[in-house]
Amino acid sequence: MQITKRNKLVEFLKSYWAYLSVAVVVLVVAITVGVLAGGQSVPTTTPSLEFSLPMNEANIVKDFSSTELQENETLNQWEAHLSVDFTSENADVFAVLDGTVSKVSYDLLNGYTVEITHDGGFVSQYASLAEEPTVSEGEAVKSGQKIGTAGNSASFESHLDNHLHFTLLLNDQPVDPNNYLDLQNK
Ligand SMILES: [Zn+2]
Repeated sequence: MQITKRNKLVEFLKSYWAYLSVAVVVLVVAITVGVLAGGQSVPTTTPSLEFSLPMNEANIVKDFSSTELQENETLNQWEAHLSVDFTSENADVFAVLDGTVSKVSYDLLNGYTVEITHDGGFVSQYASLAEEPTVSEGEAVKSGQKIGTAGNSASFESHLDNHLHFTLLLNDQPVDPNNYLDLQNK
């Protein structure tokens, strides 16, 4: 009887370990598959766009306003200002984000203007530049790269003297740069 019992126990343990081994293998495979699948299912987030400032130590002489009208002393009229005007002792103007120069133009109203197209539907425009912007159309620019010098070429804001008239577009609509650029930490 004793021997038989022991044999039964041994048989039980043998089959128990066999089941256990199978269970361990299944568990390891399940965890491995789970980790791999989990790793792949992590959503790829688009990197947040970090804007830099278009001028160093700049003062805002005229802020963005879409609803409140502001006086334009040059034109002697009240109007919305869908841009931000900057002045600074250092007149250098910089790209606010990596991108490609999509336009370099001159017209009487806006003066010398550089337009840069960025990722994410953003376009930045730098108007009232001094003559001869230092970049040309089709050129790739880096965030913080000098693209020109603030001037007084925009006739519609000539009373502001040397300044940058900065406009930020998102999907072709002007947006408040305050929502994207850290203008309070300039
Ligand atoms: Zn302006």
